Amino acid sequence: MTLSITHLGSGSGGNATLLATAESRILIDCGFSGRQLERRLGLLEMKPTDLDAILISHHHSDHSKGALIANRKWGIPLMMNFETCAKLGLDPVNECKLFEALDLIEMGPDLSILPVPVNHDGADNVGFIASHLGERAAVVTDLGSWSDELARHLKGCVHISIEANYDSNRLWNGPYPERLKQRIAGRGGHLSNRQTAELLSHVVTNHTRSVVLCHLSAQNNAPHMAESEVLLEIDDFFEGDISISTQEGPEFSHYLGQAEPERVPI
Ligand SMILES: [Zn+2]
Ligand SMILES: [Zn+2]
Repeated sequence: MTLSITHLGSGSGGNATLLATAESRILIDCGFSGRQLERRLGLLEMKPTDLDAILISHHHSDHSKGALIANRKWGIPLMMNFETCAKLGLDPVNECKLFEALDLIEMGPDLSILPVPVNHDGADNVGFIASHLGERAAVVTDLGSWSDELARHLKGCVHISIEANYDSNRLWNGPYPERLKQRIAGRGGHLSNRQTAELLSHVVTNHTRSVVLCHLSAQNNAPHMAESEVLLEIDDFFEGDISISTQEGPEFSHYLGQAEPERVPI
């Protein structure tokens, strides 16, 4: 069994991504209630107690609100960096295990995770690069802007799950208050379809088999807009598959190295 990547749901209403190998099962972020987590894992014939750990990218509630519940109810260990732990008001000794950006975490014999720094919210937020038997998969949402350092980590990944949050025209002509528009479009907000397309044009190679666009804004984006803007930049050299993850997952699983996702039976 290779590494599988399954979004249980993605967007401002909650985020969680399951990474599973023969030996390890971890969740990246837990922005769903305990009941929702149980239901969504159930669609994959899994239980919360099957999880080895939950890694949290940052404190925003769409990534963290179910984490403590999952820890208390099912004893799932939580892992995050110190700043996220502090912002969530957790005890860094008894309630979570701390990691530091760029320190490789061995989750099991066939899965390691590298937290990489990202600009979102101007705090100490991270994205994650998973390594399985020499190949890598990225799960990086909530970026705001991207750095050369992030691009270096993404380059060569066989799978990339990345945010494509908003279409610039929709955001700026839409109903959000001016300050919120500024925050979303700012360095610590989210990536526009255009920014995501630009970043992917630098990091997608013929080695990349699958890309999932995540965390689309329901108000300021649409799947066809995100997909067409990204394809415009990478279609000439990308030979893999592009999928869109929505709020109502899990819809499909990617198996590392295999382009086409497998649908989750309803
Ligand atoms: Zn966020
Ligand atoms: Zn978010």
